Order: sequence, then structure tokens, then C-alpha cells
Amino acid sequence: MDRSTISEVLHYIDGERVPSLDGETLENIEPATGKSLGSIAAGKSSDVDRAVEAASRAAQSWAESPPEVRGYHLEKLAQGIENRIEDLAMAESIDNGKPVSVARSLDIPRAAANLRFFAGAARYQHEDAFRTRLPGDQLWNVSVTRPIGISGCISPWNLPLYLFTWKIAPALAAGCTVVGKPSEVTPVTADLLGRIASETGFPPGVLNIIQGSGPDAGSPIVEHPQIPAISFTGGTSTGAVIASQAAPSFKKTLLELGGKNPTLVFDDANFDSAVEGAFRAAFSNQGQICLCGSRILVHSSIADRFTERLVERTREMTIGDPLENNTMMGSLVSSSHLEKVEACLVAAKNDGGEILTGGKRIQPEGRCKDGFFLSPAVIRGLDSKSATNQDEIFGPVASIITFDDEEEAIQIANGVRYGLAASVWTENLDRAIRVSEKIEAGTVWVNCWMKRDLRTVFGGVKDSGLGREGGTDSLRFFQEPTNVCIRFESNSKE
Ligand code: NAP
Repeated sequence: MDRSTISEVLHYIDGERVPSLDGETLENIEPATGKSLGSIAAGKSSDVDRAVEAASRAAQSWAESPPEVRGYHLEKLAQGIENRIEDLAMAESIDNGKPVSVARSLDIPRAAANLRFFAGAARYQHEDAFRTRLPGDQLWNVSVTRPIGISGCISPWNLPLYLFTWKIAPALAAGCTVVGKPSEVTPVTADLLGRIASETGFPPGVLNIIQGSGPDAGSPIVEHPQIPAISFTGGTSTGAVIASQAAPSFKKTLLELGGKNPTLVFDDANFDSAVEGAFRAAFSNQGQICLCGSRILVHSSIADRFTERLVERTREMTIGDPLENNTMMGSLVSSSHLEKVEACLVAAKNDGGEILTGGKRIQPEGRCKDGFFLSPAVIRGLDSKSATNQDEIFGPVASIITFDDEEEAIQIANGVRYGLAASVWTENLDRAIRVSEKIEAGTVWVNCWMKRDLRTVFGGVKDSGLGREGGTDSLRFFQEPTNVCIRFESNSKE
């Protein structure tokens, strides 16, 4: 890949890549090297205003176009992504620090899949109609949906293009024009998406992308009076700020927030599958997935054997240059995030936790010697109420907690402020169903982790979010339904 294509990140407004009106930029750092990658346009409210004007000009014709036409444009965009999968995977890896193999097999294919899925979903979405019979009245009640309007879509840095497209695709498919913002930490693939949109003839003004920081570029989107809906994915504390900014003007908000997800391993689990599942759930993408299982709850009768195997498996990980094909773990996303995770490890030790492996800075040879690498850590011995087991760390840190029976496992699993996801490992079907139904989470996987069907609901309970994405839930968020009630005469008076 030609690095010059990612050295200058610009806004994408009205079909063109443009700098900020005031010309200001931010620096983009490559996490695996700690060196500058280039500049990012630093968006402000004046840039957001410009994007909203473009989105407003394009709104009516996009909203009135048939779903087939919108689907056609989304599929062309998906094809544009697939045509450049290798460049996009390299760019995502360079910008985020994740292994290129992960970007190639997960992030970029899923970005294309999001666009294709919602292109189809909009075509097949139906509206409800009810025949109502009241004494003396015959009615047809029809639910008519219309696009909600210009939609703000704000996404985080951990799965950059994957989550950005997960938000914009349903908005566009539902007939809304969009002002989106990726994280300033990983802005590159959204910029490339703007280029692809131009190349594939995406209608100008329908999709607009503002780059820059949360407070300077994100807040003006949330507070803009012409944007009636905000779809946000990110941290719980940012979600609280956004909710408070959006509430006074009664904006519709969808909040996908943080997690502290439990992996529950019962003594009747398939042992090898459970070890592998818990390992993947803990450390995939450097532990930087909202769905990662950072709390591993293990039945006391198998805890020692399980811990030994998990530690062995963790030590086998190849950590280093994310651009090498055999790398299993790349760098954390930024130096500040690395420092945050290290501080959590210090707190874990101070609270009496035993770090069985990992938790050390790594300096790979060569170009990555100044990158933000940390070896994956497995901790045991901490109380389930300790900070390590309560607060989201969002890094390669897994804590083992033991339990003695099903009831205790459920109580520990639910004993946090979050409720995003869980995975349950057992060969006992009755137990699998019983436990899954009692866990407070938006998603419960049984004998698997992070398997997704885009038609299913996705979201969090408690402090993990508000609302649901996935399938028609995503589309409905970007639509306003109106009940049209039609009275008619059932007996001919002619
Ligand atoms: P974050 O700091 O909350 O940022 C998320 C997005 O919001 C970024 O684009 C950020 O911009 C922007 N932002 C920050 N402050 C804002 C404000 N005042 N107004 C408007 N926008 C603002 O989250 P992150 O650190 O990028 O991502 C990690 C978090 O996301 C974790 O908690 C993780 O669990 C969560 N997450 C949740 C899900 C889910 O589906 N539930 C999925 C992935 C990640 P800048 O980065 O440019 O400042």
C-alpha cells in the first residue's frame, strides 16, 4: 500500500475531500511504531454546519428514492471496499495497531457485509397493517414509516471501519442522509471510504464524514438542531455526556457502550473448547473489543487445571509487528491507552491480585521498538468486587474468578454495572438455557463467542447501552413511524 494515501486525512463533505475551514489539523500516530503517520483535519462546528447543509440539500431526493436505488449505491460502495480489501486492511492495521490478518479477515469483510446486508434489509422491510373492527366502524390501521432525517453517527477506534459502517449503512438504507464521525485515534479508513464513495458515484451530500476530536467535532454533531437522531458507539462515560447533550432537544439516541463481560466455565464444559473460547474472548484484538470476556468465571473443581492451560495458551501468542502475517497480537491503540491499562495492572497487584503471566511492555526488534505493546495478562486471586473485576479495562487483561455453584456464578456475572455480553460453557443443555436466561446482558453465547448474524438484535442492558441495533432494529431507529387510521364503509350504499 502507498502510505501517502493515508498521510493526510480530510473531511468528506458533499462528495469531496476537504480540509477544515480554519485549516487546523491534528497529528495521527502509528501505534506500532509511535511515529507520526500524518495529519488529520481537525473538525469544528463550522465544518459540521457545512456537512449538515450538504446533507440537507441531498435529503429529499435520497429519502424519496426507492429502497432498490439506495441499495444499489450501498452495494457499489461494498464492492468498492471489496476491491480494495488489501489496502484497507493494511491501512486499518497501521492506524490501529491490530494484526493485519485480523483486519483482513474480520474488520474489512465485515464493513462490506454491513453495507450489503442493509442494502438488502431495506428492500425487504415491511410495514404493518391491522384490520380493526369496532362497533359501527371498520378501520384499516397502517403503519407508515419515513426516514427520521439527517442522522449523526459516531463510532469508536477499536473496530474502526467495521463499526462506522455498522452505523451509517442502516441510516443510509433507511433513507437518511448522514453526518458521521470516526474516532480521531483511527480516522484513516473512514477517509478511504470517502474516496471510495466518490469513485463509485455515491450521490454527493448523502454521506458526509467529519474528522476530529470528540469535543470539537463530535459535540457539534450531537447538538446540531437539524440532526434529530444520534447513533453512538463508545465508552459509557462519553455516552452519558452525549445523552445529556441530546436530551434537551428530545433527539432520538442509540447508545452502544462499554462492557465487563463474563465468560462462565462450568465443570461439565468441553474443557478444550472452553479454554480456547475463553482465550479468544479475552485477547482478540488486544482485548479491545467491547464484547471481550475480561472476567473468566471458572468452577472451583476445574479452576487450577483451567488456569494452567489458559496461561500456557496465552504465552504461545506471537506479539509484534501487526503487519507481519503471523502476528497474533499487535500494539495497543495509543500510548495513553497503554498507560491506562498499565495503571489497572498496578491497581490489580495492589489489591492482592497475582499476575500469572504478561502485563509487561514489549519492545519488538526493528521498526516497532517504540510501539505501544503489552503482553497479555492473566490475573487471579481478586475479589469479584475489586476494581479489576468491576471496571472496563479494554485491554489484554483477563481476571480469573472461581465459583462453587450455578447460583453463585450468575450472581458474580450480574454483579457489575454493565450488561453487554456473556459466554457460557457447558455441555448440559438445561443449564445452558437456565443460565442464559438469568444473565443480564444483550447477548449470551453458549459454547461459542462473537458469532454474529446481522439479523439478530445487538445491544446492552444497564450501563452498556440504550436501544438495540441489528436487522430491522437498526433500520427502525432511523425511521419515524406514523399510524394512518382509515375508516371505511363495509356495506355498499350504492
Ligand atoms: P469514546 O472515547 O467514548 O469515543 C467514541 C467516539 O465518541 C469517538 O469518535 C470519540 O471521538 C467520540 N466522542 C468523544 N467525546 C465526545 C463528545 N463529547 N461528543 C461527541 N462525540 C464524542 O470511546 P473509545 O475510547 O473510542 O472506544 C472504546 C469504548 O467503546 C469502550 O468503552 C468500548 O466498550 C466501547 N465500545 C462499545 C461497543 C458496543 O457495541 N457496545 C463497540 C465498540 C466499543 P474521539 O475519539 O475523536 O475523541
